[in-house]
Amino acid sequence: MNLLLESKALNKKYFPGKENEHHVLKDVDLKIEKGEFISVMGPSGSGKSTLLYNISGMDKISSGSVVFNNQELARFSEKELAGLRLTSMGFIFQHIHLLKNLSVFDNVIMSAYLAKKLSRKVINRKASDLIEKLGIAEISDNDINQASGGQLQRVGICRALINDPDIIFGDEPTGALNSKAADEIMELLAEINRGGTTVMLVTHDIKVAAKTERVVFMLDGRIVDEKVLGKYSPETCSIKEREENLTSWLVDMGF
Ligand code: ADP
Repeated sequence: MNLLLESKALNKKYFPGKENEHHVLKDVDLKIEKGEFISVMGPSGSGKSTLLYNISGMDKISSGSVVFNNQELARFSEKELAGLRLTSMGFIFQHIHLLKNLSVFDNVIMSAYLAKKLSRKVINRKASDLIEKLGIAEISDNDINQASGGQLQRVGICRALINDPDIIFGDEPTGALNSKAADEIMELLAEINRGGTTVMLVTHDIKVAAKTERVVFMLDGRIVDEKVLGKYSPETCSIKEREENLTSWLVDMGF
């Protein structure tokens, strides 16, 4: 076992102690191994995004613990957490929060400049390499506002990767894309994972989850089951079989 992240008895309540208290995460135990490609499924409102925000230190847990790289997140100050997220975690959201009126290139380098770990020269080279690899070199100098949805998602991935994070968190990363662009983004994420980066995705899309290694299912704030599919490789696995396998598992749970 080579654990990257573990939550134990993680609880999250919004408005604790108030009349409108909302107990969203209930005793969630989750282990994520280094190098894993994991997805979280479950009905809308079951707590998937909240789980992502709480295990990544974006939000404050109500009780329990989250340990990342052997470090208890509760011991971190807000500033330290921001630093940890900047240097060790990458985030890809459905609606990517990129900086308007900046070029694609500048959006990619920004978090590396903020992290101050590498020289500007090295950062610029790294950004160019990533942008090339993600197939958006021709729009590198363009204003971000001119990019299409699929291109924006690729910029988001470049930005998430620029600091060589230990883990990429994605919240419906393909949700706003057409199926061809979604397939391409999933292939890129799989390739990033094959390179050793841990990836955790929140998704409602069976086609997305079928390409991940393990799928956990949330219901009403709890992880109620999981399905281990093993690593996906197009050469050795039939994606149809994995999708069917997942579908029957979900149907068995009444989803
Ligand atoms: P999912 O990602 O599975 O759709 P969410 O984690 O977004 O679910 O939401 C789980 C529950 O938590 C929902 O009932 C939602 O309304 C509630 N919730 C999410 N964020 C907040 C917030 N900031 N304040 C109060 N309730 C919230």
